[in-house]
Amino acid sequence: MSKIRVRFAPSPTGELHIGGARTALFNLLYARAKNGILVLRIDDTDLERSREDYVDKLLDSLHWLGLDWDEGPYYQSRRQDQYTAEAKRLFADNRAYRCYCTTEELTKGREEAKKENRAFLYPGTCRDLSPDAEEKCRSEGRKAVIRLRTPNSGETVVDDLIRGKVHFENEMLDDFIILKSNGQPTYNFASVVDDLQLAITHVIRAEEHLSNTPRQQLCALALGYELPAFAHVPMILAPDRSKLSKRHGATSVEEFQNEGYLPEALINYMALLGWSPGEDRELLNLDDMIEAFKLEKVNKTAAIYDVNKLAWMNGHYIREADPDRLAEAARPFFERHGLIKGELGSDELDYFKKVLKAVRERARTLVELAEAAEYFYLDDFEYDQKGIKKAFNKEGALDVLRSIRQELSVLDDFNEEKTEALFDKISDNTGLSFGRLIQPTRLALTGRMGGPGLFEIISLLGKERTLARIDKAISYIESGME
Ligand code: GLU
Repeated sequence: MSKIRVRFAPSPTGELHIGGARTALFNLLYARAKNGILVLRIDDTDLERSREDYVDKLLDSLHWLGLDWDEGPYYQSRRQDQYTAEAKRLFADNRAYRCYCTTEELTKGREEAKKENRAFLYPGTCRDLSPDAEEKCRSEGRKAVIRLRTPNSGETVVDDLIRGKVHFENEMLDDFIILKSNGQPTYNFASVVDDLQLAITHVIRAEEHLSNTPRQQLCALALGYELPAFAHVPMILAPDRSKLSKRHGATSVEEFQNEGYLPEALINYMALLGWSPGEDRELLNLDDMIEAFKLEKVNKTAAIYDVNKLAWMNGHYIREADPDRLAEAARPFFERHGLIKGELGSDELDYFKKVLKAVRERARTLVELAEAAEYFYLDDFEYDQKGIKKAFNKEGALDVLRSIRQELSVLDDFNEEKTEALFDKISDNTGLSFGRLIQPTRLALTGRMGGPGLFEIISLLGKERTLARIDKAISYIESGME
């Protein structure tokens, strides 16, 4: 059997959407599972909508996700000669012809079809023009496109690896354009020429392209190549089953990256959009996925996107990440938050990692991680309003803070064990519960009511900052909490 070759063929007309990234992932999984080759092709024939900076962004997003291709990128914009040559061949074999219909004429036909509530199909006006008739069209200044001659009867069957056999009446497939009047190929033509010339064995792509497939098959047959196999992966819909769009939050890989998702979480989550490894397994790394992946097991029905599940998964990967790797991933977010800046000295790096260890348990994104870490870097924070009522506005809160301050001021070792032992002692001496001691102290040190363990916080802040923050809270309460 020949080597499996798949391709991912994004159009550089925008950022890489989660749907496109999932298509890339499925292609990669299939290639790796079959020991095949993943080809990257950039579909940039639409010169008006394609942009070079989008190409860069696409490549960046694929790299960031770790979706590494084996061959390419091939650029359609650099393969014009191939399209021209293949179209000429079809033309010479009488499998394609020149069509001189003007846009106005076609638009008129389209409008009539719309009025009559039927799909517009090119009526074959120029299918059998005599040389004289062609000459006349040219003399009228009409420009020609090239259309593929397709069969008028019978059917074209797409044998989809996910959906099974899908039948299309040839009657409903008109003679579509392969080269535009400026000589550029249409998507349906360029895609087929590339798939065939690059010896693609499996075309795995979005369901929205299923309606293009019979046309592409007819084109491939006319060109005299063997057809690749096709697999159309299901759509990704929003929870309300509408099309996933901006109003549902992040949709592009770059946006997910900026919102603090880890690539391994996004990869894991995307794999489950329309596929399942079975046995209720949900947390998988790329190797696990490659081992379990079967194209035939991809669902036919649309997948529903659920940001909460993605966030949950991201939280898992944040907790599991190797500390150095987490530090590297979290760093830009801490910088953006104004918490760290530039090269970190070894003490600063050490502190940064300890802070991460303290806050990683509860964060679901790297943005949340940076937010949770603010008070480890910034002294100037407000006290939580509910916390003020609950912890400061309580009989005895001031005494509690004063005695804690007093005890801490004579403690030299500010590690977790020593400070905890000290709180134990204060609790014994005063008869106050641990909670009564911890709540106002936590609020004084962090401005918040929740977070990592208090003694971890104290040991990270160190003596000076701990005492200064307790002093500040004492003054705040003394001044009537204004
Ligand atoms: N450029 C097309 C797209 O981005 C790819 C279609 C295909 O995979 O054939 O939708």
